[in-house]
Amino acid sequence: MARKQDIESIAQTRETLAKAGLRSTAARTAVLQWLQKSKAPATHAEISVDLVPLGFDKATVFRNLNDLAEAGLVSRTELGDHAWRFELRDADHEHGGQHPHFVCVRCGQVTCLRELDLPKSTLKQLSQVGSVTEILVRGHCLTCS
Ligand SMILES: [Zn+2]
Ligand SMILES: [Zn+2]
Repeated sequence: MARKQDIESIAQTRETLAKAGLRSTAARTAVLQWLQKSKAPATHAEISVDLVPLGFDKATVFRNLNDLAEAGLVSRTELGDHAWRFELRDADHEHGGQHPHFVCVRCGQVTCLRELDLPKSTLKQLSQVGSVTEILVRGHCLTCS
């Protein structure tokens, strides 16, 4: 099942926020729309580069990212480099709305592996070890290999 990649209209974004119990402020709407356009998880710094020139300060962007994460619209992942990355949750994903990620050990580029689905038996085995927060695949990207 393909994930909906279309960018929502402002009205749709406001509705998404309302459903999650959040007020749609200008900053929150801008942050959510930025994430809808993004193809990979992004750091607060990367998102701020685009949003600060629009008049939102870094602290506001950060606060809104965390509000969206707490409301369950956005996921926060840490991919081993001590930086939080934010991305939209997959609405159509059964296990916690998350997919695995590929990280290049040389340049740090992160790619979403949306099509990589673990077999039910593997998920069951993982649930016996604990609760999985992140599935990482590491290697060299095409540019670096
Ligand atoms: Zn690379
Ligand atoms: Zn992803």
